[in-house]
Amino acid sequence: MSSPAPDLPFLHLDVLWLQVTGTICNIACRHCFISCGPKVDIHPPMTLAQVEDAIRQAEALGCRAYAFTGGEPFLHPDLFAMIDLALARGPLLILTNGMRIDPATATDLAERARAAEHSLDLRVSLDGLSAEENDPVRGKGVFAAATAGIRNLVAAGLEPTVAVTTVHAHHGSPDGRQQLLDLLRGLGISRPRLKLIPPFALGRQARVALLSPPPRLTAEHLDEDSPWVLQCGTGRMVTARGAWPCPILVNVDEARMGDDLRDALRPCALAHPACHTCHVEAFTCRS
Ligand code: SF4
Ligand code: SF4
Repeated sequence: MSSPAPDLPFLHLDVLWLQVTGTICNIACRHCFISCGPKVDIHPPMTLAQVEDAIRQAEALGCRAYAFTGGEPFLHPDLFAMIDLALARGPLLILTNGMRIDPATATDLAERARAAEHSLDLRVSLDGLSAEENDPVRGKGVFAAATAGIRNLVAAGLEPTVAVTTVHAHHGSPDGRQQLLDLLRGLGISRPRLKLIPPFALGRQARVALLSPPPRLTAEHLDEDSPWVLQCGTGRMVTARGAWPCPILVNVDEARMGDDLRDALRPCALAHPACHTCHVEAFTCRS
């Protein structure tokens, strides 16, 4: 008989993730571990009132930083009002595919970043050094649009982090990382920052995950440092449908922790194979 899934203690709320656009995205990447797309409404977009309520709850709990994700956050008509709400309270990270960041949007973001007391950081996703490598994973024309978005950010004075999911395994090697860093320098980023993301056996990405049956965590895998290393020890995720331990498990119904953030301030069960991936990769969604 397999061991029961271990619970991870919840230490405190450092980071609140908000799935502002739900699972709505302008593209439908082949490896998206939450299966987002133009018509995917597993999670609907959050309203401005829902975002404000969650941020106020988090602030009262001493939350130190905020992160917006989706789907694609720049599809939300109220995104800039949401940005203002978060930036008034702490540093903000926005995850984006970069495709909707035109020069005016980049300028607007840069002005907010300059005016804010807290930092604004953007993380743009790419999955290759070229359209030939990226677009079979993310969609036709995505490489050109995403790199244009990165150039627009740089021109406005914002240097984004770039996230690469290692579906092309060579990107995780020293040579692969160097090639990616060279690409980012070529896009004008003076101090390139890469975030490498392992493939998770979830959503559309489950089709490209190779391990079968997937391993799971047991209590023996964890130690006293685990709540500090795994992001679910110090972070939570809210969507329009409730609260979750992290951005990775939002489509796993058994992982749902309650209707809002206050219901999720307790240990979470590390029952999913994705938890094993987090553990072995020491992975966190944080930058
Ligand atoms: S990986 Fe990101 S950009 Fe691609 S479909 Fe999912 S949410 Fe959209
Ligand atoms: S997937 Fe990772 S971050 Fe999410 S609950 Fe499991 S271990 Fe924690």
